[in-house]
Amino acid sequence: MATIFSKIIASEIPCYKVAENDKFFAFLDINPLAKGHTLVIPKQEVDYIFDLSDEDLAAMHVFAKKVALAIGKAFPCRKVGEAVLGLEVPHAHIHLIPMQNEKDMLFSNPKLKLTDEEFKAIAKAITMAF
Ligand code: AMP
Repeated sequence: MATIFSKIIASEIPCYKVAENDKFFAFLDINPLAKGHTLVIPKQEVDYIFDLSDEDLAAMHVFAKKVALAIGKAFPCRKVGEAVLGLEVPHAHIHLIPMQNEKDMLFSNPKLKLTDEEFKAIAKAITMAF
C-alpha cells in the first residue's frame, strides 16, 4: 500500500509544496516545530533512509541543501537544522527546521498550530527564496 507521502507526491492528499524535481519532493510538515519546518522525501518509496543507494542519498542531500538555503532566506535563523527520524511515517524523509538554538530541534517541543493561510504564505515565501 502506498505511504501517505507517496499519496502526497501523487496529489491524492493535499500538501503545502515547496519544491520538486524528478526524484525528490519537499513540502511543509503539517505539525511544524517552527515556521518553515519542511520535509524532503524521495519519490522512490523507501522506508529507511539508509536503504537508499549512495547516489540517491547524496542527491537527496543536494536537493535538501537547496531547500534549506531557501528556508534560511525566507525565515532568517542561525542555521537550518537537519534531522532524520522516520519513526512515524515509513517513507524516508529529512526534516529541515529553522533554528535559533539547540532546543528548537527537540521533537518533544509543542508543535505550532497554523492556519491554512499561514501554511500557504510560508510555502510561498520559501518558494520565492529559491
Ligand atoms: P517521523 O516519521 O517521526 O520523522 O515524523 C513524521 C513527520 O511527518 C511528522 O513531523 C508529521 O507531522 C509529518 N507528517 C505526517 N503526515 C503529514 C502530512 N500529511 N503532511 C505533512 N506532514 C506530515
